[in-house]
Amino acid sequence: MHTTRPTLSIGGLTPFTTIDFPKHLAAVIFCQGCAWRCRYCYNTHLLDSRAKPTLSWDKVDAFLQRRLGLLDAVVFSGGEPTLQKGLLEAVQRVHNLGFKVGLHTAGMNSNMLANVLPYLDWVGFDIKAPFARYATITGVSSSGKQPEKSARLVLESGVAYEFRTTVHPQLLNESDLLKLATSLADLGVQQYVLQDCHTVQRLDSSLQTFSRNDVLGNENLIQAIRALIPQTILR
Ligand code: SF4
Repeated sequence: MHTTRPTLSIGGLTPFTTIDFPKHLAAVIFCQGCAWRCRYCYNTHLLDSRAKPTLSWDKVDAFLQRRLGLLDAVVFSGGEPTLQKGLLEAVQRVHNLGFKVGLHTAGMNSNMLANVLPYLDWVGFDIKAPFARYATITGVSSSGKQPEKSARLVLESGVAYEFRTTVHPQLLNESDLLKLATSLADLGVQQYVLQDCHTVQRLDSSLQTFSRNDVLGNENLIQAIRALIPQTILR
């Protein structure tokens, strides 16, 4: 029975999507607030944790109840959902309603991730850089520690996942990507996506805009990464 109202700061809702949870029709709940400031972040309106939420949990809950039987899944995205105090209650509520539950995370809070993993059906895990180099992208020192713990938790849990890395040539070079793929392969990652940083809107306007990403166009590099993680796809 639903007895508590999750404390979740919600910055937006996508009522219907086919691309945020593989092979599922899903709604996406965007959590407000993130502790990092990735230079290529395009969800800049979701970064400030003190910003006024745009939706209450009650409204989202009522929406989900109207979508029972019409949607397969609900995805928690952000911002960074694992920083939300009420994430566990919200995930349990969605799970108990009968939806599959997806999570988009950068693995910022491994304790919360460990709590919600038993209720998750899929995790999209953003891996920013080799763990020792996170700060060059996030702007926060030692920010690779939690993601390394979180990555292990996802892999040990048996929950379906996709690890993905956004590649901007000014932030990650070929050597970084090889180093990262090597450490992910060592952890046991089998599903990996390299995605182009193609958005024009980004937090750091000094980052150049590319019509085509030369790093991802390097066939030799992609082959070397696929030798480490065969199921690597480019997006
Ligand atoms: S982890 Fe980085 S890209 Fe994701 S919301 Fe936070 S600042 Fe933006």
